[in-house]
Amino acid sequence: MAIVNAAEDLNGRRRLSLQSPANLKLIGEIEVNTESDVKSALARARKAQVAWGKRPIEERVTYMEKALQILLERQDEFVQVIMEESGKAQTEALMIEIFAACDALRYFSRRAPKILKSEKHSMHGVLSFTKRLKVNYRPLGVVGIISPWNGPFILSINPTVQALLAGNAVLLKPSEVTPRSGGLAGKLFEEAGLPEDLLIVLQGDGETGAALVEAGVDKIAFTGSVGTGKKVALACAKQLIPCTLELGGKDPMVVCADANLDNAAAGAVAGAVFNTGQYCCGTERIYVVESVADAFIEKVVDKVKSLRQGSEGEFDVGAMFWPRQLDLVEAHVQDAIDQGAKALVGGRRNPNLEGLYYEPTVLVDVTHDMRIMEEETFGPVLPIMRVPDEETAIALANDTSFGLSGNVWSKDVAKAEELAERIDTGSVCVNDMAMAYGVLEAPFGGRKNSGLGQVNGDGGLRSFCFAQSVITDRFGGKLTASHYPYSLEKDEGMKKFMRFLWGSKLGRFIS
Ligand code: NAD
Repeated sequence: MAIVNAAEDLNGRRRLSLQSPANLKLIGEIEVNTESDVKSALARARKAQVAWGKRPIEERVTYMEKALQILLERQDEFVQVIMEESGKAQTEALMIEIFAACDALRYFSRRAPKILKSEKHSMHGVLSFTKRLKVNYRPLGVVGIISPWNGPFILSINPTVQALLAGNAVLLKPSEVTPRSGGLAGKLFEEAGLPEDLLIVLQGDGETGAALVEAGVDKIAFTGSVGTGKKVALACAKQLIPCTLELGGKDPMVVCADANLDNAAAGAVAGAVFNTGQYCCGTERIYVVESVADAFIEKVVDKVKSLRQGSEGEFDVGAMFWPRQLDLVEAHVQDAIDQGAKALVGGRRNPNLEGLYYEPTVLVDVTHDMRIMEEETFGPVLPIMRVPDEETAIALANDTSFGLSGNVWSKDVAKAEELAERIDTGSVCVNDMAMAYGVLEAPFGGRKNSGLGQVNGDGGLRSFCFAQSVITDRFGGKLTASHYPYSLEKDEGMKKFMRFLWGSKLGRFIS
């Protein structure tokens, strides 16, 4: 992500300048959208949504398919923008931004007609004789999407695709640190010919984000930090509008004594260093059973030492996205070292690179009194703690205010799954890491401070709709016509009927 600074106002409007975190070069400026810009965008989006919401879903799908083809053709250009603004490695830009975006476009296009199709439900008990039920998935209206900087394109486009397919218009506010990468979602759909004003990109910082939340949209899909997420939740609560909050994490990794140590060490390094550690479900704490700790740590250290950090050509580890994050990682590592932790590799900014680089770092002798084991670090750091057994590992894994994801490693898959299910997180992987957001079938979301609601899966797509129940009387209202007068005789009849329904074998069968 880019380094953001206030630039000179132009025509009375606030501007922000952007520097690449990889080489500190100036890469552009954005104009900050004001509250009145947000309000006028909402009015335009509301108008555009009316016709869009009435279109058959198969028609909406065609725009997603067009967008997919354009993205495939123009991927290099998109990668370039993302790399310049974020400093991430090309493979990471391709993998978590472009590949994942293509996957989301196709996955939801292909399945949305079925997932959002009206459903006829059979009813229970006597209702099955008297009523019919249909459930329709109707668009909410205009959805506000607010995205962070660490996956600036995918975290903008994935919710946008789902919201549009569900028949909504979208106001998208990307992070001020990665405005151009987030804005690519708007560019892509404009080129795909999406009708005007169905997707409007609003640029700016927290002020624009807050204005969007307060503007009167019908839902907010927010991805970002816990602190901002709580502000968004309060503002949505006041307006009684739904929100999903995809927030931070402190994901634990548990390495059992019977784990394949080569795979586990590789998984630990990829889980913690991927996207320079700036990944919501990246591995942030590692618990390894004492009997294999030495061998595991040695393999992790070897692997970390082999990583190439850089900004050009082939490299494995990119820059930190912005100075605030670099300072935070440095502070967490320093706090750990001050309290007795040891850095076996790394533990400092990379002195050989000009941009915002922190060396991949392995820390041992860490404890739960240290910030590195308590707060989200969001950097390429592997704090490893030795534990006597798996039970202790699970207890420590759950000793946190976060609950996003986690992973367990063992050759005994049944045992690993049983341990994984005891970790109090929205998702968890066995012998793999950080997969959950990329598995579009899987409901993804956090427990505790990691968020509210879920994205992806059938439920995620449907969360951009309201489920409207249409209940029709099979007898044209005849039963309701005899509703009044009440009488003791009717009450006795009801009591008798209840005894039959839930007190007899036949009644229980049909109820
Ligand atoms: P952030 O909360 O600082 O900003 C996120 C977005 O909110 C930005 O677009 C920002 O401009 C906007 N914003 C700021 N103040 C606002 C306000 N008062 N009202 C409305 N919007 C406001 O978060 P960040 O630093 O950009 O992102 C990093 C965080 O995101 C990390 O904690 C990471 O774990 C989390 N994250 C979570 C997931 C997930 O799916 N759970 C995915 C990626 C990132």
